[in-house]
Amino acid sequence: MGATIRTTCPYCGVGCGVLATPGASGIAIEGDPMHPANAGRLCSKGSALGETVGLQGRLLTPWVRGKESDWETALDAVAEGFRKIIGQHGPDAVAFYVSGQLLTEDYYVANKLMKGYIGSANIDTNSRLCMSSAVAGHLRAFGEDVVPVSYSDLESADLIVLVGSNTAWCHPVLHQRMVAAKTRRPEMKIVAIDPRSTPTGVNADLHLPLQAGGDVAIFNGLLHYLHKHGFDDHGFIEAHTADVAEALRVADATAGSLDAVAKVCRIAPEALAAFYELFASSPRVITVFSQGVNQSSAGTDKVNSIINCHLLTGRIGKPGAGPFSITGQPNAMGGREVGGLATTLAAHLDIGNAQDRALVQGFWQSPRIATSPGLKAVELFEAIHAGTVKAVWIAGTNPVVSLPNANRARTALQRCELVVVSDCVAATDTTALAHVLLPATAWGEKEGTVTNSERCISRQRPFQPAPGQARPDWWMFCEVARRLGFQAGFPYQTPWEIFLEHARLSAAGNRGRRAFDIGALGTLTRAEYDRLEPVRWPLSREPFQDGRYSHPDGRARFVATVPRAPIHATDEEYPLVLNTGRIRDQWHTMTRTGRSARLMQHAPEPFVDVHAQDALLAGVRAGELVRVTTRWGSMVARLRCSGEMGRGTAFAPMHWTSEYAGDARVGPLVNPAVDPISGEPEFKHTPARITPFVVAWQGFVLSREPVLIRDATAWSLTPGQHCLRYELAGRRVFGDWSPWAKRMLGFGESNPQWIEYSDRSIGVYRASRLRNGRLEACVFLSPRPDLPSRTWLTELFSKPALDPEDRQGLLAGQPVRAGADAGAIVCSCFSVGSGTIRATIRELKLCTTGQVGRQLHAGTNCGSCLSEIAAILAEEREALAASNPGSGSTHIPRVEALARST
Ligand code: SF4
Repeated sequence: MGATIRTTCPYCGVGCGVLATPGASGIAIEGDPMHPANAGRLCSKGSALGETVGLQGRLLTPWVRGKESDWETALDAVAEGFRKIIGQHGPDAVAFYVSGQLLTEDYYVANKLMKGYIGSANIDTNSRLCMSSAVAGHLRAFGEDVVPVSYSDLESADLIVLVGSNTAWCHPVLHQRMVAAKTRRPEMKIVAIDPRSTPTGVNADLHLPLQAGGDVAIFNGLLHYLHKHGFDDHGFIEAHTADVAEALRVADATAGSLDAVAKVCRIAPEALAAFYELFASSPRVITVFSQGVNQSSAGTDKVNSIINCHLLTGRIGKPGAGPFSITGQPNAMGGREVGGLATTLAAHLDIGNAQDRALVQGFWQSPRIATSPGLKAVELFEAIHAGTVKAVWIAGTNPVVSLPNANRARTALQRCELVVVSDCVAATDTTALAHVLLPATAWGEKEGTVTNSERCISRQRPFQPAPGQARPDWWMFCEVARRLGFQAGFPYQTPWEIFLEHARLSAAGNRGRRAFDIGALGTLTRAEYDRLEPVRWPLSREPFQDGRYSHPDGRARFVATVPRAPIHATDEEYPLVLNTGRIRDQWHTMTRTGRSARLMQHAPEPFVDVHAQDALLAGVRAGELVRVTTRWGSMVARLRCSGEMGRGTAFAPMHWTSEYAGDARVGPLVNPAVDPISGEPEFKHTPARITPFVVAWQGFVLSREPVLIRDATAWSLTPGQHCLRYELAGRRVFGDWSPWAKRMLGFGESNPQWIEYSDRSIGVYRASRLRNGRLEACVFLSPRPDLPSRTWLTELFSKPALDPEDRQGLLAGQPVRAGADAGAIVCSCFSVGSGTIRATIRELKLCTTGQVGRQLHAGTNCGSCLSEIAAILAEEREALAASNPGSGSTHIPRVEALARST
C-alpha cells in the first residue's frame, strides 16, 4: 500500500474530504474524518471515486488538427492562432470557456491572462449555468458575493427551508447532516419547496409543490406576511439595511392575500399558511437554495426575494440563520474568488469600477486590463456562432452537451476558426470539434486548492503520477501566456506560487472593505501550503456578524422584486414544463461516473418522468419509449411515471451524451432564455411535449465484450461490473432473428453453447451464448417493453457456470427460482434492489431504515439511498394501511398531508 493522501472530492459543492490510498488492486477511498465538511462521510459518487481513476478513455497526448502531436507544436499552434486573431480583430475576438472543475490556481492564471494581458473579459465558466444568479443576488444585497452561512449553522437551525434543491441526491452528505441534526433534535423542522416530490422531501415536515417559477411570489408573500404580522427586526433594519420601504411596497402590491399567493403558486392555502407560520415563529431559519432557484430567467430576483425575508427578520449574520446558496460544482466558489466569471474581477473586485481595475492592474503589473464585462456563456456561444468570437479555449467542460440549445453550440464550434480544448477525456461531444486538443491532468494527479459552498478552502493533492503527456491546466495557460510575450506575468513553476499571489491580491487595498480576504495565507511556505488544513474565509470571523456589509455605506440592500412568468410559456403544442437536473449517482456528462459500473446501475437508461395523467393524454405508458420535443430540439427516453411529478411537468436528467445513448442529450432541448442580470439559463422551464416513439421491437443485449449494434433506431449503453448492457429498439423486423443475433453475439467461435427461443407468432425472441457453462452474452427482444429483469440476468454473469435452473430461466425469459430477481438497484454500495427491500420489509415487518440496514446492509455505507429506502417504507406502510383500514395511521406528517391535499 502507498501512503494515504488527504484530498477532496471532485464532484459537488459540498467539498468532502477524501482519503486516497494507492494499492496493488487500485485506489482505496474513504471519507476524511478530519474534514469539517463531511467528518468521514462520503456519498455514493464519492465512495466510488477509486473506480473512476483508470486510464480508459484518457487523452494522453496533444493533437493538432487531427494529428497526434507534442506539446511544443500544440502550444505554438494555440499561441499563434490567438495572436493572429487578436492582431486582426482585437482582444474581444477570442475567449476562454472554463469550468467549476478547475482548481483555483488554474482559474487564477486563466483569468489573469485574459483580463490582464489579452485585455478582454471574455472568460466565462460553466458555473454561469448553475449559480451565477446567486452571485448576482449576493452582489445586489450585500455588495459582495458572500455566502453568509456555514454547514454547522444547519445543525443549530430551528427551521431549514430547502428551495429548488434536491439535496438528497445533489448534495447528499450535506443532506445527511441535516437529517442527522433533525434526528438529534426532532423539534427542528424541514420544509421542501419544489415542484417535484424528490427524495429530499421524504425527510421534510412539509413539502410545498409550488408551480414552477412561483418562487418570487411565495417569498414576496412571506415578506408581506412577516411585515403584516409584526416580525420585522426594526433595530437590525435601521442599523444595517437600506431600501426596505420599496421592497415592502412592491411585495404588498404583488403578493396580495395568502389565498392569492397560494393560488398563483398552486399550493393549498393551509400548507402555505403552515410554512409562513413556521418561518415567522422560528428564530433561527436557514433558507438553502440551489439550481431550482438559480436556473431561471428570474433567478436573480428569486435569490433577492429570499434574502429580503432574512434581512427583514434580522436572521442573517448570526448562528443558525441566513440565506444559503449551495453550489453545484467542486470549485464554483474558487472560480468566483478569482473573478473567473466574465462579469467579475479578481479578488471580489468590481470590473465596472475604475479604482478596482487600477488596483488589479497595478498588482499584476499587467500591460492592460479589461474595462467592461465580457460575454456570458450563452452570449459567448452566440458570438462564436455569429463569427465575432473567432477563437475559443474550452477547459474542462463539455458545452456541446451542457449548454442550453446545445445543437446551436455545436454548430457554433463547427464554424469557429480555432477551437482549443483542454480535457482529461479523449472522446467527448466537444473534443470531437477541437482543432487543438491538450491533455489535462485529472483528479488524483492535480494539485491545488478548491473552495466549497461554505467558503472552506481545501487542498486537492495528487496521489498518482500524471500519465502520458498530461499536464495541469495552469501550466498550459502559463505556457501560452509566455508564447504571447507575457513571460514576466506568468513566472510560476508550481501552484503554490500562484496561490500565494491570489491570497495577497485578496488583501490588496482591502482594509476590511471586502469579506474575501485570505491575505494571511499569502506568506505560506511551500511546506505549509502542502500541509494546509481546510480553512474557511473570512479567516477571523463569520461574514456579516458585525452587521457590516460590503456596499460602500456598510448596509445590506433590500431589492424590490416583481414576480414574472418564465420567458417561454407552455401552449397546446408544448403543454409540459420540462425541468432538467441531476440524478443521484451521476455527475455532469458521465465522463467519470460513467466509468463506475456500480454507479451506472441506479438509473441505467435515459428517462423522462411525467405525471401519469399527462402520459395518458399523450397516449403513452410508463416503460415505453417516447420522444421529448421542444421548440429547440428533441430526444428519445424511457417514460417514467414515478409519482414525483406534478401535472403539466416533466423531468429529464442532464447526464447522457452521445457516448452512452443514441439520442438522449437533453441540452439541445433547453430553451436559451437567460436571466437579464446574471445571464443564467432557464434549465428548469422549457415548454415541451411527449409523443410515442414508435418502434416495431424493443430489447436488450448483455455481453461481456462490446458488440456492434445493428438495426437499432434507439440505443443506450450501460457498463456493468460483469457485462455491458445495451438497451435497443428498432423498426426493421426480421422473420428469423437467429442469424442477426448470432452475428451480433459472436456465435460460431470455438465451442460456444447456444440457447435460443423464438415465437414468431408474437415476435418474441431470446438467445444466450455460453462458453464452458459460463454466460457470455444474451439478447432478448419483444414487440413490447415487457422484457425480463436485467438485474436478474446481470447476476447470472457473476456465476462461473450456470445451473440447470438458470438455463431454464434464460429459455423462459424469467427466473424460475423465487427471489432470484432483486429488482431495480436502490443501494449501489451493496447492490440491493427494490424487490429485495420490499420483500424483506413485508416478511420481517420492518419499520425503519436502520432495521432495513441491519438486515440487508442497504444504506449503511454512504447512506445516499436512505431517502429512497424511507420512501419504500412509507409506500409499504400506506399499502398496508389501505389493505387493512383499521390498522392505524399512515404516519404522514400533518403538514405534508395538508400539502398533498391539493
Ligand atoms: Fe463528493 Fe458526495 Fe461529498 Fe458531494 S456529497 S463532495 S459528491 S462525496
